[in-house]
Amino acid sequence: MSSESYRFDVGSYECIAISDGTFAYPHPSKNVFINFFVNAPQDRLGRVLRDHNIVSEQWEEYVSPYICLIISKGQDHVLVDTGAGNLAPTTGRLIPNLEAEGISPEDIDAVILTHGHPDHIGGNIDSEGKPAFPNARYVMWKDEWDFWTSDPDLSGLKIDDHGKEILVKVAQNALHPIRDRLELIEREVEIRPGISAVSAPGHTPGHMAVSVVSDNAQLLYISDTVLHPIHLEQPGWCSSVAFDPEKVMASRLRLLSKAASEKALVMATHFPFPGLGYIEKKEEAWKWQPI
Ligand SMILES: [Zn+2]
Repeated sequence: MSSESYRFDVGSYECIAISDGTFAYPHPSKNVFINFFVNAPQDRLGRVLRDHNIVSEQWEEYVSPYICLIISKGQDHVLVDTGAGNLAPTTGRLIPNLEAEGISPEDIDAVILTHGHPDHIGGNIDSEGKPAFPNARYVMWKDEWDFWTSDPDLSGLKIDDHGKEILVKVAQNALHPIRDRLELIEREVEIRPGISAVSAPGHTPGHMAVSVVSDNAQLLYISDTVLHPIHLEQPGWCSSVAFDPEKVMASRLRLLSKAASEKALVMATHFPFPGLGYIEKKEEAWKWQPI
C-alpha cells in the first residue's frame, strides 16, 4: 500500500484517500499546542496509552497523518478538505499526490471544507495566496464560515496564545480568497447525488462530516469528530482545541452509533493512513477496525 494515496470504491463513486503529509505534535509537557486527551485522568491515560503501545515517557512527539479525500464520478471530482498547505515542511503534499494520480488542481469541481482549522483549509491557496483549485466551488457550514471570518473567540481553547494566533491567521489567509466561490449550508443537504453534509459540531462550531451513499455502499468521512483511535474507546476525552466538549461528545455518539449499526466504511482525517476502517461497538463505547 502506498503511504500517499489509496484508491477504493463506494458504489459507483471512485474514491482516493490522499495524503497531505504528516505533522509531528510535540509531547504535551514540552509545548502545549495540541493535547489530544486534555481532560483525561492522568492515571487512566497512562494505562490506555500503554495498552496502545505508546509509552508516554519515551514519546518525544506524536506524528499525526493529514489525509484528504477525493470522490469522483467520470470527470467530476469532489475534494474533501485541502490539507495544511505550507504550514510545515512535512505538509502540502496534496497537490503533488493528486497529480501523481492524474488529477490536476483545475480538475477539481467542488471542495468541501469540513471545518476551518489550518490542517483542513491550509491548502485552499497557492504560494501567491490565490485559490489553489481555480475551477472549484467551495462548500462549508455557515456557522463555521461566520465564526472564523468574524473575530473568533478562542478563549475556551486549552492552547497557548501562539497556537490561537496560528488558527486565526490561517483562517484569515485561507478563507478570504475563496469568498466569491462559496456555498454556505445550514442543513444536511445533498452536495452531489448520494454525497451529503452531516452536521457534527463541537470540535469547531460548524464542524461537519460527509456521507457518501451509492448502490448499497456507504462511506462516512468523520473528519475530526475523533482525532485518534483512543477517542473511540474513550469518547469523553477531548483535545485541547475542542471548541465545545459537550457537543463533541454528542456528535461522537450520533455519528459513531450510526456508523457502527449501519456497518459503514469510515474515514478519519488523522488516523493511521489511509484512515479507513470500521467502527465496532465495544462495551459502552467503540473500537477501531482498520481495513
Ligand atoms: Zn484536523
